[in-house]
Amino acid sequence: MELKYGLRDNQLVHIDDVISGKACNCFCPGCLGPLLAKKGRIREHHFAHIDSDCQHGVESALHFLAKEVIEKSGQITLAAVTLAFNSNREDLVVYPEQTVSIDRVEIERSEGGIRPDLILHVGTSQLLVEIYVTHKVDKAKRKYLRENLLSCIEIDLSKVPRDIDIEALSSLILGNTDNKKWLFNKKGYLKRIELQQIAINREIHWSANKRTNGSQRRHLVDNCPLKHRNGERDTTADAMWECLYCACCIDHGNSVLCVESLAD
Ligand SMILES: [Zn+2]
Repeated sequence: MELKYGLRDNQLVHIDDVISGKACNCFCPGCLGPLLAKKGRIREHHFAHIDSDCQHGVESALHFLAKEVIEKSGQITLAAVTLAFNSNREDLVVYPEQTVSIDRVEIERSEGGIRPDLILHVGTSQLLVEIYVTHKVDKAKRKYLRENLLSCIEIDLSKVPRDIDIEALSSLILGNTDNKKWLFNKKGYLKRIELQQIAINREIHWSANKRTNGSQRRHLVDNCPLKHRNGERDTTADAMWECLYCACCIDHGNSVLCVESLAD
């Protein structure tokens, strides 16, 4: 694929907006090598490297363009923040998909030990953005985000056509959330901690099943906070058939971690 963008004064410029030849004064967004603007009559206009066989220009240009789209946008739609649990209950929505206004954007500013593609300032919080064209965020960086409570979203452009036009790229980056993934979200993390702290650990014990005259045994927990299960009079719950699917159950293993306030 032909390279359509070059860097001039560290700004991305399109081949249509430069003069032909070496005088375009542009550099490759990938290797930063000098470029030649080829604007002849036969082939489609494009940039060519003067003295290298670099193959990263097109991908780097897409990465640059994506950053520019966000920088100029003023707002962006963020994916919902949800918590999944070790039970069959539905994921908990901490906050739904929402469009936020961006007050300020910093590009490639170091934040502690990492350098995200962008840092967005939204009200009093800051949000790190990583744009995935060829390289996903690695494990070490994810760990750093987690340990330092840095909310970070990754925008996946790995399958986007490299010559996508700017309008299509803008709607893909700004309005869409299918390609956005939270690598870490501070509010979600704190919500999980809060739930773990208020959860009651209910031990699972075995009991003969009265309905089948003791020929089957059930896994039960005591003191179920729900009062109206299956018309039963006692306060035990069946750990397999009730707790596992219950909104209160945030962990289901050797015991049941039960959060009563999630019932409603
Ligand atoms: Zn290059």
